[in-house]
Amino acid sequence: SVDTAALTAWLREFARLIAADKQLLTDLDAAIGDADHGANMDRGMTAVLAAYEEAPPATPAELFKRTGMTLVSKVGGASGPLYGTAFLRMAAAAGEATSLGVDDLARVLRAGLDGILARGKAAVGDKTMVDALTPAADALDAAAAAGRPLPEALKATVRAAEEGRDATIPLTARKGRASYLGERSAGHQDPGATSATLLLTAAATALT
Ligand code: ADP
Ligand code: MG
Ligand code: MG
Repeated sequence: SVDTAALTAWLREFARLIAADKQLLTDLDAAIGDADHGANMDRGMTAVLAAYEEAPPATPAELFKRTGMTLVSKVGGASGPLYGTAFLRMAAAAGEATSLGVDDLARVLRAGLDGILARGKAAVGDKTMVDALTPAADALDAAAAAGRPLPEALKATVRAAEEGRDATIPLTARKGRASYLGERSAGHQDPGATSATLLLTAAATALT
């Protein structure tokens, strides 16, 4: 299982991947949105890292809560409230636990996704971050149910997220700014599904 230090390393790695892929996320958003997803996520995760420095989170719930509150306050647009809500729900799901096993991580990821669904009202196939996170949560649930060890569970989760992300390319957007383009949004990978996949890639790197 993974403790607060390991989970903090996960979100630091997410911040690093966001910074490294900032231009890619912005370019994807330029094609079907307003070209700010890379800047939004990088600003948010930079502020998240600063918040960890100010007061190192002592529990998984504290870590997720600080992350969510910072993203809500620092990131405008659709993605800030959506990721922010996800992390706040993850904090609630982590509860009093001091470390999380595969079962707990599956429950926590599912809670985060449910928060995004409640807030954004998107369904799978609407060409959003939900398209990457839903198969990822399903894969992690299946791995937990099958008793898979963490590295194997996270590998399957990343694969599922990547497939969901790639499947957004031909879709017509039905939520968010990209939906204003109608059928012209087809043929482009969704920026939020791309950043959401980085969250899981970071988990596989930092937690195993
Ligand atoms: P904005 O669109 O306000 O500029 P961002 O560019 O930071 O915000 O984020 C855009 C991403 O947010 C999209 O690529 C999509 O994945 C996600 N998104 C937008 N609306 C929704 C929604 N209702 N539910 C889930 N995800 C959404
Ligand atoms: Mg945008
Ligand atoms: Mg915007």
